[in-house]
Amino acid sequence: MPTIVFEDATLLDCKGGDPKYPASVVVEDDKIKDVIEGKPGALPQSAQRIGCRGKTLMPGLIEAHIHITSFMGEMAEQTRRNLPSMLVIKSLAIMEDTLMQGFTSALDAGGCDAGFRTAQQQGLIKGPRLKVCGKPLSQSGGHADMRLPTEIHPPIEHPFAIGAIADGVDQVRRASREELRMGADYIKIMAGGGCASPADEPDTVQYSLEEMKAAVWEADAVGKIVIAHSYSPRSLQLCAEAGIKRVEHGNFMDEATAKILKDKDVIYVPTLTTYDVISSRGEEFGIPAYFLRKMKFANESAQSALAFAVKAGLTIGSGADLVGPGQPYKGRELELKSRVMGPMGAILSATKVNSEILKISDKVGSIETGKLADLLLLDGDPLKEISLFQNRDRIQIIMQGGAFIKNTL
Ligand SMILES: [Zn+2]
Repeated sequence: MPTIVFEDATLLDCKGGDPKYPASVVVEDDKIKDVIEGKPGALPQSAQRIGCRGKTLMPGLIEAHIHITSFMGEMAEQTRRNLPSMLVIKSLAIMEDTLMQGFTSALDAGGCDAGFRTAQQQGLIKGPRLKVCGKPLSQSGGHADMRLPTEIHPPIEHPFAIGAIADGVDQVRRASREELRMGADYIKIMAGGGCASPADEPDTVQYSLEEMKAAVWEADAVGKIVIAHSYSPRSLQLCAEAGIKRVEHGNFMDEATAKILKDKDVIYVPTLTTYDVISSRGEEFGIPAYFLRKMKFANESAQSALAFAVKAGLTIGSGADLVGPGQPYKGRELELKSRVMGPMGAILSATKVNSEILKISDKVGSIETGKLADLLLLDGDPLKEISLFQNRDRIQIIMQGGAFIKNTL
């Protein structure tokens, strides 16, 4: 591959400082070879030069909570209405579309197995570099149990089930070990009720302390951590007590709970967009009534929960948690976060901080010599106009590992 040089750019390197202008970034093979304030020095004649005046060069975005295997608004119906081949094909389309939204790395927070991660690594499919949770663990009647309250059969095992049902310490151990055996990077558990599930409520506690501790033990035994789906103060506090190091959503968090999470070094990944987008467009998306009612309820306190987390000084990651027809709107998370954290806070959360949370900061998350060339060239200044991540035309170049995924210049 020829040397590629981005010249005369406003550089938002996402190391934490202010943008720099003018700056140049030299890409060779899959890596950033040089970052230069000012003009680049001598370049090989064959170098491809890209003029970036008036544009912002930044690292590829990182998504810390996606679900590539969720494409229907009525999630409980997916496995009833689609053969496994169709489930894979539709998931691949979502994975590729996530990359086209500017996300060059991501964590799938449940539903996606390690095969997708491997296929992306091997260049067989297009998408963000992935980490996966495999199937989230859920108690019977919990957030990953998709049976209606009227269904009397046991849970049905399916390769694309939204979760694995495991009750009691022994079953939680076994299910954790199975997910780890199949290559999960994290154990994901449903520590409290949720919205997409037909038979529970989001402000409830699921899984006992002993069950959660069993999952933590199994993950810790192999140097991994547990990620917990959790909304209420009581559920969040139980997660912290069980030794869980990362919680998702947390929409009902209060000030006291935020302080407890801080004391226990728990990472917080709020997911504002899914509540915002589904609350406003749920009917159009075909979201069932029980799901929509709970999403609207959880949306009411999402911003105040984030404000408590910021005040307590938690490490705050960025994820949109979009499902079904909401999948195309992941860039909205930056705008919603910026209302509490400011535009720079929102951008750093989706780059530097997410790379640290996912333990990939040695390779991605900022523009630095030696890191992988995962880059975005934006038409404009996202610090002045944070909504531009929602307009795909404004993301003019997407580069992943030195390769142009998109280039409209
Ligand atoms: Zn989720």
